[in-house]
Amino acid sequence: MRPPLAETDTQAMDEAVTTWEELVELEPGLGPLEEEARAIADDGTMSFFCSNYVWLPLTSSLQQLIGVRRRGGQGKVAEPLLYDSRAYEVAYLHLSPLLPPCRDCGCHRFQPLRDEQTLMALDD
Ligand SMILES: [Zn+2]
Repeated sequence: MRPPLAETDTQAMDEAVTTWEELVELEPGLGPLEEEARAIADDGTMSFFCSNYVWLPLTSSLQQLIGVRRRGGQGKVAEPLLYDSRAYEVAYLHLSPLLPPCRDCGCHRFQPLRDEQTLMALDD
């Protein structure tokens, strides 16, 4: 018997296709991206901090390194896993939580939408 859809989704999430460490080995460009993410701090000198705002350029860089939008070409590893959207999910879920949370920005209004888009991105 086919399990309910929600259960299937949960199982899919539990069985990640790869790990962050394996991805960094295959695509060394991910290492500096992680350093960049870890270096982002909300030092409190601004009246607000927006995690989504600083996430945008990072996710653009990430998309060029991994997933269906990966840029191949000379000197680039032709490993199929690096073009896999599930590998992108693994990288996304590793990097995204490294950023400090939003503070006093307008995101609380848009957070439900962002969650929805994240889920949609994961479904790609
Ligand atoms: Zn924000």
